[in-house]
Amino acid sequence: MNKQPSHYKICIIGGGVAGLTAANTLAENGQNDFIILEASERIGGRVCSDKERGIELGGEFVHGEGSILWDVLANKLKIPLKVVFDYSAPNPKDCGLGFLLNGKIYEINHPVAQKTLEILEQLTTDEELKKSKDMSLKEWLEWRNIPKEFHTLIDSILAQTNSSCINTHSAKGAQEEELSGEDTNIGELNFHVEGANTMDLIIPYLTRLVNMEKQLKLNYFVHSIDYSDKNVIKLNNGEITCEKVILAVPLTILRNRQIKFTPDLSPQKKHLLQNQFHMHGGMKILLRYKRPVWKEQMPNVNVVVVGDEDPIIAQYWFSSTSDEQCKKYGHIITGFSMSRKADNALHMTDEEIKQHFRKFIQKTYHLNDDNDGYLGGDVRNWQHIHHVAGAYSFALTTDASKIHYIEQPRVVLSQPIGSKIYFAGEAYCQHSPATIHGAMETGQKAALDVLQSLTSPSSVPRGHSRMSKL
Ligand SMILES: Cc1cc2nc3c(=O)[nH]c(=O)nc-3n(C[C@H](O)[C@H](O)[C@H](O)COP(=O)(O)OP(=O)(O)OC[C@H]3O[C@@H](n4cnc5c(N)ncnc54)[C@H](O)[C@@H]3O)c2cc1C
Repeated sequence: MNKQPSHYKICIIGGGVAGLTAANTLAENGQNDFIILEASERIGGRVCSDKERGIELGGEFVHGEGSILWDVLANKLKIPLKVVFDYSAPNPKDCGLGFLLNGKIYEINHPVAQKTLEILEQLTTDEELKKSKDMSLKEWLEWRNIPKEFHTLIDSILAQTNSSCINTHSAKGAQEEELSGEDTNIGELNFHVEGANTMDLIIPYLTRLVNMEKQLKLNYFVHSIDYSDKNVIKLNNGEITCEKVILAVPLTILRNRQIKFTPDLSPQKKHLLQNQFHMHGGMKILLRYKRPVWKEQMPNVNVVVVGDEDPIIAQYWFSSTSDEQCKKYGHIITGFSMSRKADNALHMTDEEIKQHFRKFIQKTYHLNDDNDGYLGGDVRNWQHIHHVAGAYSFALTTDASKIHYIEQPRVVLSQPIGSKIYFAGEAYCQHSPATIHGAMETGQKAALDVLQSLTSPSSVPRGHSRMSKL
């Protein structure tokens, strides 16, 4: 490490898609006096592909059409995308989504699946909840006398969309995120990057204007940010200095107080970090098979919601790899275990987890050890990944948030500190948290706000006027 202080106009802390989109936005606008500081030995963060085998260990689906991610993949890179599921498909056969109930897979037009979607809609439009104190989703389901059979199905859906569960997820938070007026209207189609292509093709695109030698420092963990001086921000006791920081680290890093701020964060931000947001564990279990046994039985179902049929698996789906990769490495089925279900596997070894999922698939598709064609598998537990420590952020409820609930919590949390520290990352995206495109949007916004503050230092970032006192 160079002992001389290094000075940059802008330091981007965190090299996930939020930080990299910020870097790309700065470079596209001709601002190259920045550095990306990344704690681990690679960039990409929770976008993490095994390109050789075509496996996605982190973010995998492209949610909706027309988002910033969609634009890069479909328009800029011309990558083929294929529809995996679509909640709004008029014909349930085309939906691609299945529900496992009493050991059998049903399509979305099954009454139980329909009722589940209606309950989620009821939550979104519950006027009394809007005026009440916060409560967990479980408390809301009980308050609204929703039969128990739906609790676990909703739990399973939440596990995938929010890596949370009905016991810890805030009912008001769930309602607000659905209600956000900021929706970009990207629809309900969900895509896979097709064939041998992988999600982390976006990483070279986002860094094509970055000088990797000079503008990226890997294995560099930022543990302190001193912004007490009027003109200069000191990182890691002055090892690196800058005028602006774009802080693009996962929520857990701030929640676990792994970065010391001088002066300290505001009580409001600390309350939000501790009481209104959290990241639970999340695990992908990727099994490889000689043939796609699941397609032989239900060719139109690509993603299955498991409900209470299994203590560990919340959902599973069939991953997209090329014919060549399938021949070489096998056909992939991905099990998703999040939140409470991931905690249920904490005492198990990776081998035990793989065998558990294999037995579950055997039971569901009436197979056995002799005829399932199992080749092996991998487990990726994001709770164990250094500098991430969880899957993605969700709206938490605690005793403290029940007493004092801050509305629009993601908007408030993302407010810059002065015109010095700007926040980016999936946790700050009100309309699409826990997604790749949500993280990218926040990176782009933080960079544009920084650029604006450099050209007119006294200006308040767009959309932030209500929060100026923070
Ligand atoms: C299992 C799983 C499946 C997912 N599936 C999907 C999906 O199908 N579709 C979808 O849209 N999204 C999905 N997501 C969510 C999506 O991957 C994330 O929302 C997005 O990638 C987050 O990007 P980010 O830049 O905000 O954070 P990250 O990718 O976590 O990047 C933050 C970076 O900051 C670094 N860092 C941390 N602390 C420090 C520090 N102090 N100093 C320097 N660097 C630091 C970390 O090492 C990391 O590289 C999934 C996520 C997981 C875990």
